[in-house]
Amino acid sequence: MKPLKLLSAAAIVLAITSVSTAIQAGSEGSLHSVFERYEHDDPIPAKPGSGVRQSDLPIADVVVLNGKIYTVNPEQPWAEAVAIKDARIIHVGSNSEVGDLVGSHTEIYNVENGFVMPGIIDPHIHPGLLMAKRAFCALPGTFYEPTEEQILDELKQCIDQYPADRKWFIAQGYTTPAMSEKTLTKEYLDKLIPDRPAWIEDETGHNAWFNSKALELVGIDKSFKDTPDEFFSRTSDGDLAGIAYEGAMNPFLDLVNATFDTELQKIGFMRLLDEASSKGITAFGDGYTFEEDLQAWQELHQEGKLNAHAVLYLKGNLGTAELTPVEELLRWRKEYDLPGPPAVKLGMGGAVESYSEALIDGYLDDTKSAQPIIPADAFVDYIQQLDDAGFQLMVHAIGDGAVRATLDGYEKVIKKRGNNDLRHHIDHCTLIHPDDFVRFVELDISCSIWPPLNAPIAYNTEAVLPVLKPETRKRAYDNRNRQDAGMRQHNHTDAPAAVLWPWWGMEASATRGFPGKPELGKLNKDQALTVEELIKIYTINSAWAMNLDKVTGSIEVGKSADMILLNHNLLEVPLTDIHKTEVQGTIFKGKVVYNPL
Ligand SMILES: [Zn+2]
Repeated sequence: MKPLKLLSAAAIVLAITSVSTAIQAGSEGSLHSVFERYEHDDPIPAKPGSGVRQSDLPIADVVVLNGKIYTVNPEQPWAEAVAIKDARIIHVGSNSEVGDLVGSHTEIYNVENGFVMPGIIDPHIHPGLLMAKRAFCALPGTFYEPTEEQILDELKQCIDQYPADRKWFIAQGYTTPAMSEKTLTKEYLDKLIPDRPAWIEDETGHNAWFNSKALELVGIDKSFKDTPDEFFSRTSDGDLAGIAYEGAMNPFLDLVNATFDTELQKIGFMRLLDEASSKGITAFGDGYTFEEDLQAWQELHQEGKLNAHAVLYLKGNLGTAELTPVEELLRWRKEYDLPGPPAVKLGMGGAVESYSEALIDGYLDDTKSAQPIIPADAFVDYIQQLDDAGFQLMVHAIGDGAVRATLDGYEKVIKKRGNNDLRHHIDHCTLIHPDDFVRFVELDISCSIWPPLNAPIAYNTEAVLPVLKPETRKRAYDNRNRQDAGMRQHNHTDAPAAVLWPWWGMEASATRGFPGKPELGKLNKDQALTVEELIKIYTINSAWAMNLDKVTGSIEVGKSADMILLNHNLLEVPLTDIHKTEVQGTIFKGKVVYNPL
């Protein structure tokens, strides 16, 4: 029991205390010899819990003591302490059991009654799409409700710190509605950035702010013929004012994209992954890995810089029925040393609000309709090839018609295979026809939701829901019905296309309200999920969908030591405080990868 004495010496949460400073001299020697003897042994402890050190017990590299540890392991839901060796969990139990595994070199984390749970798993983010643009300057978007002043303050900070050797100043992410017309001019930007071309995309990616140097390089002037698909903001006398919309962005993007290199991508990816650590995320899926991203991922992987388990969903198609040949995908996996199991992403549709998702009952405007992007036969053939090659498939499907088409394809291949052990799954799932719930259960397919849509956010109430027929609208995000039907659900953030804030989505799913804005009311309140269900959804269910559930997703012996310490007990705080959750420490593979102190 002696090692536990040092708990009082651990003054701050998650501060590392060296056991040797607190352990009594007599025991230090014997512990040291035990440590050396077991350094390379099997990490599973023999007989913990006796309170007396036994010579056949391993010594932990790291222990977490004094916690309210919610394990997400139904066999042992709560524990006080965890011991870690060689990046894996070797014991989950009481302080005294784990105390038996402390040696002179063990790092001890006294979490002082804090709430600890498995790391959050975000199976669908997009480092590849936007992070090169955000590498040195990520401006705040809608979710942060910034004022113009705050956006400009952040922009000025970026400008001060921007690397001098980059040819262009590139930034992304501000919310246009917060900005005034007189600010969004090239003259205003010239004052801030006079010396090099500047390109600042707003959060939607549908328009961008440029300065005069950028315009000069592109060589466009007021004679440009605007069309509804490519146009500029204009001054009263017809000059280009400073914002390019849609297709008018392309000539700028040709120059901007040409400045991207592996180094910039690595910086961008790590910026997102460091932010993910600060939100408690210990595993992620890249929801579209392009060939141009592979070198950066390989280098980060080989340099040991990834601070979370990664699954890279290689691009199977992008907006069209043209499929990346499976031999090509196999070549990518062979030529590059990539983390995680082999995986592929396919899109079956676009977005409901742009009428590019197939709906079983059609759109409110019956002149609009859409078919699944990939024809049924070609889809089955492709899944079969991927399945044979051992690739897991994630399919983007939002409308219930696209979801059903995906299920139809999966069904043929999964039934032939005999199970879904590769974990083919579907992402977004705004609408699922109730007749299909049972097919998800029988085929053992998981469905991932973007949970902010469980709340009455403007995108939902003003863009998505209005295009649906009233009876279809009622079925949007019917999470409770899906849960009760026995479906396995998981959640994702889609960051940075949307905000990287799992706690916001968790609260929205538990309350069906907009976190912090009760005045906006609730969206289908009877479809709320419980916090216990949501913790599973964000941990073990997401791990399952990514085929990582044997590796992570719960605090269990043998799994990777991935866990987070929170500022409050999620199971006790009012539901409307969940979005205020703060991560006070993130441990990945037994190492602290985020510590705000
Ligand atoms: Zn996505």
